[in-house]
Amino acid sequence: MSKAHGYAAHEARMPLSPFHFERRALRPDDVRIDIRYCGICHTDLHLARNDWGITVFPCCPGHEIVGTVSAVGPQVTKFKVGDLAAIGCLVDSCGECDQCHRGNEQFCRNGYTLTYNGKDRVSGEVTHGGYSDHIVCRESFVVRVRAALDAARVAPLLCAGITVYSPLRKYRAGPGMRLGVVGIGGLGHMAVKLGVALGCEVTVVTSSESKRDAAHALGAHRVLSSKEPGALASLASGLDLIIDTVPVAHELDPYLGLLDVEGALVVVGAIAQMPGFHARSVLKNRRSISASPIGGIAETQELLDFCALHGVHPDCEMIPIQDVNRAFDRMERADVKYRFVIDMASLGRDGSA
Ligand SMILES: [Zn+2]
Ligand SMILES: [Zn+2]
Repeated sequence: MSKAHGYAAHEARMPLSPFHFERRALRPDDVRIDIRYCGICHTDLHLARNDWGITVFPCCPGHEIVGTVSAVGPQVTKFKVGDLAAIGCLVDSCGECDQCHRGNEQFCRNGYTLTYNGKDRVSGEVTHGGYSDHIVCRESFVVRVRAALDAARVAPLLCAGITVYSPLRKYRAGPGMRLGVVGIGGLGHMAVKLGVALGCEVTVVTSSESKRDAAHALGAHRVLSSKEPGALASLASGLDLIIDTVPVAHELDPYLGLLDVEGALVVVGAIAQMPGFHARSVLKNRRSISASPIGGIAETQELLDFCALHGVHPDCEMIPIQDVNRAFDRMERADVKYRFVIDMASLGRDGSA
């Protein structure tokens, strides 16, 4: 066992505060990572506040983890001490089912293990995430961070990035594809950058006219205001794929009308009861509606390698961990461009953790 410290929610609706706990001793195929950066995801806020009624307290969040390998078990072959490495939303799965064999650990038929608020497959203990000084994880759930990447700006790729990259790959986004991105927050800004890097013609749809310049700055070729009368109609049947990153329940009909024949709209932002849609909105052009959660481990590695090759980085605002509660409040107001990342070197500076 090793002594760990970090920040945790000790009960619902209480601010996060210092937390001391123990990480397991290294198993033969385990890697220990000293955490340097951890992104802040909306899920962290929901679980810390027990919005979904499934949180086990104390809850140490964080599933966008980047750090340096500081120890390896005797059977580890992919990593050595000193390597830059990362962990996303999952730390384990059964490894034996058809979906695990296909690299779809996120669909493991026997239950994957979440990086935090999950249950370790061996010990049954509750898992703790990246708002902490180090983590221990099976090497098969650790991905490599190439030197071409700026370590301080990699973290959001591990959840926000893979969440949009996975559907982009499934629908074969590439040169010639007309891609729509609805909303530009943490997920949307990554969808724009990745879509551009993949060679798509990218249209951003936003309800906020003030985001027009920001969308172009991210590389978008066209920006439509969903509030401007006639704006969406001007692009009717003009897109092949829409990545819908709106984080709350919303009408789909206005966006479905943008899809050309066989086009698909993929919901990645909202985990909510959605309003209905008119069947005509999908039967016209034989459109489809889909939704998609994160991605598999091999696909996450592919994303990091793609970003290293193309120089794609999320836009991050770096904070010390002592500001995490303020960051949660600001995130709720969408007051961040576009993702908070905790600089874990700040841990311990307040003397209490
Ligand atoms: Zn997340
Ligand atoms: Zn499985």
